[in-house]
Amino acid sequence: IFALRSSYYFSTGVVEPSSSLRSPPRVPNLIGGKFVDSQSSSTIDVINPATQEVVSQIPLTTNEEFKAAVSAAKHAFPAWRNTPITTRQRVMLKLQELIRRDIDKLAMNITTEQGKTLKDAHGDVFRGLEVVEHACGMATLQMGEYVPNVANGIDTFSIREPLGVCAGICPFNFPAMIPLWMFPVAVTCGNTFVLKPSEKDPGENLLVHALCKRFGAPLHGTKLCCIQAREMDASYLLWHICTEESIIVLLSIAVTLFFGGETGASTILAELAMEAGLPNGVLNIVHGTNDIVNAICDDEDIRAISFVGSNTAGMHIYSRASAKGKRVQSNMGAKNHAIVLPDANTDATLNALVAAGFGAAGQRCMALSTVVFVGDPQSWENKLVECAKSLKVNAGTEPDADLGPVISKQAKERVCKLIESGVKSGARLLLDGRNIVVPGYEDGNFIGPTILSGVTADMDCYKEEIFGPVLLCMEADSFEEAIHFVNRNKYGNGAAIFTTSGAAARKFQTEIEAGQVGINVPIPVPLPFFSFTGSKASFAGDLNFYGKAGVNFYTQIKTITQQWKDLPGGGGVSLAMPTSQ
Ligand code: NAD
Repeated sequence: IFALRSSYYFSTGVVEPSSSLRSPPRVPNLIGGKFVDSQSSSTIDVINPATQEVVSQIPLTTNEEFKAAVSAAKHAFPAWRNTPITTRQRVMLKLQELIRRDIDKLAMNITTEQGKTLKDAHGDVFRGLEVVEHACGMATLQMGEYVPNVANGIDTFSIREPLGVCAGICPFNFPAMIPLWMFPVAVTCGNTFVLKPSEKDPGENLLVHALCKRFGAPLHGTKLCCIQAREMDASYLLWHICTEESIIVLLSIAVTLFFGGETGASTILAELAMEAGLPNGVLNIVHGTNDIVNAICDDEDIRAISFVGSNTAGMHIYSRASAKGKRVQSNMGAKNHAIVLPDANTDATLNALVAAGFGAAGQRCMALSTVVFVGDPQSWENKLVECAKSLKVNAGTEPDADLGPVISKQAKERVCKLIESGVKSGARLLLDGRNIVVPGYEDGNFIGPTILSGVTADMDCYKEEIFGPVLLCMEADSFEEAIHFVNRNKYGNGAAIFTTSGAAARKFQTEIEAGQVGINVPIPVPLPFFSFTGSKASFAGDLNFYGKAGVNFYTQIKTITQQWKDLPGGGGVSLAMPTSQ
């Protein structure tokens, strides 16, 4: 395995492994087809949310490096846009096959770095994979329109052309799915791309760390040295491994090399895209935080930005980048409500509420965070508490985990404060997950399922997005009142109803002001032949992610009117507005 992996480094010259051999390893940028270590001395620690170990560091990419990434994308654009669309589609066809091949590796990487359970991490990859599959049909999606003989001898047609360099800025909660909402659609349309993953989970060398912990290897006593003779024609790599427990470390390294654990989800996806045939420079990755995001907003060569994350960042990016004339699609925060009518199927509804409220520790933009019970909520709430109590909180790598930790200590503090503020404002704490201790992971950012009842619209826990495993229960006297209540909320990402009445479901679907509606479906994230259609404060822009809207976002329409006929001379000059009569 070692030899194979090393020969990959040598033969392709694509990967510089040095950055992944630091301790903690530093995540490389991807510029012009090469993974390169940033020259920046400023870094941010990436912390395993289940253990608090610093698993890697991300560089605050320098302005020169950022410019180099944009320049690589700009230079790759002319050849890539002229590459036949069938060839571009074939890259996606190969990419979807490679993602399937490496889905376990991707999922393990996400779990170790972001905290979600392995099963959930598989779902994260799979929902992104579906976008890649959809991009395989880009020729049809990007097809133009044609009307012959709009006037005598004149035909008009419209085509959709790529924009140029596009950029994507990602949140922490879906390290595979959200980059896959972005670059596969953009590049298959003929654009080139600069991706900025979340600084909270860019990923690096995580399996070594996880295995060192699991087997008790002395992480900090473990030295991995790499001497790379870069100037020599035949590159040559010498590894020294010195450790007190070398067998365990060798095992770690073997597994790391086998599973490719030295890279994060975005990096693995980029490696796979290159393996699938994506030419150098078509996809670039830069790491960093606010400065790099602002540089993306201001850069004159970047034509469009896809953003997913919080409202604070999203509105800032939307206004700064659109002031510079860029296209922006900005998917932001949420407060998704479920309305439960008295006739709803009890078991199915309880299962749905618990799964959508606490899955991924509530860190999904389509999580159901608020339930409005129409009629008496008591019996629903009692059963909800029983059901939520049975969930197992554990590190995402543990097979019995239903929910893992939240992303950071700060996130945990924030969630706990919002729970506390709810209690102080008069909500009843039916289930309190704040003091949970997970054996073996005592330092993890765990919060158990938490249920607050009697919540009202003026409470901070209702007004703010909590983004943790907290379910707010409210009550309404009538269905109309419940709909009115949900519509008053500023967010419009998603809303669901649980009922056995078709008439009620139809009324809900018509009157509810949310972009994605579930009828007896808790997390109605649309498949890629539709679009992700959050609305109100959950979205800024005109064209949504993926589906037809996604293709329109990454393309500029051009309309051509042509006249091919034998032109009789001597008709004279007419200065009147041409008409088709
Ligand atoms: P975040 O806004 O903190 O970070 C997202 C990205 O923006 C990161 O890459 C970060 O570096 C950058 N960023 C953050 N603050 C910035 C600033 N002040 N200036 C410039 N750039 C900045 O979001 P997060 O915590 O990573 O993700 C959670 C949020 O994302 C939640 O609000 C969730 O609802 C939202 N989300 C929305 C969707 C959706 O489709 N609507 C999907 C997933 C997550």
